[in-house]
Amino acid sequence: MKISFDLDETLFVNPAEVPTEPELKFPYNKLYRDRLRKGAVELLKEINESDTELWIYTTSNRSLRYIRGIFGHYGIRIDSIVNAPRHEAEVARGRSNFPSKYPSVYRIDLHVDDEKSVYENGIAYGFRVYRITNDDADWADNIRRELERIRRGKSENDGQTDR
Ligand SMILES: [Mg+2]
Repeated sequence: MKISFDLDETLFVNPAEVPTEPELKFPYNKLYRDRLRKGAVELLKEINESDTELWIYTTSNRSLRYIRGIFGHYGIRIDSIVNAPRHEAEVARGRSNFPSKYPSVYRIDLHVDDEKSVYENGIAYGFRVYRITNDDADWADNIRRELERIRRGKSENDGQTDR
C-alpha cells in the first residue's frame, strides 16, 4: 500500500494556529524552519514500520534534499517524493486544466491534504483523499482507521482475484 501527504497546512503547519511537534534541536531548527503537526511523528514512524510506503505529494518547490532532511531528523523515512517539478514532468506534462495532484497515477491508495479542491478532484477523478482541517484533533487516528479499511478491502479483493 501507499499513502501520500501534502506538506503545507497538512504536515507543515503554523504553530500559532495548530498544535505542533517540538522543533528540532539547534542548529537544525535554523536549517529546517517548518513545524510538523502534532501527532505526525508517531503516525509517520508507524507507517515506516508497516507494509505501507510513505510518500510526500506537494505542489511546492521544496527540494528533495530539504524534505528528506527535515523528516530524517525526526527519524522518519520518506519512500518517495512528488514535488512540483516531478508532477509537471510525469503527470501534468504541459496539460493545463489538469488536477494539481493526481495520486492514482502513482497507485497511491490514500492522499492526505487540506485543500478542498484536492478533495473534490478526488471525487471527480477517482482517488481517495482524507481532508485534514486545523480543528481535526483526531486526524492521526482517523487516518489509521482509513488505512485499515483500505487494507481490509484489498485483502478481500485479493481473495477474489486469486481464485
Ligand atoms: Mg496544503
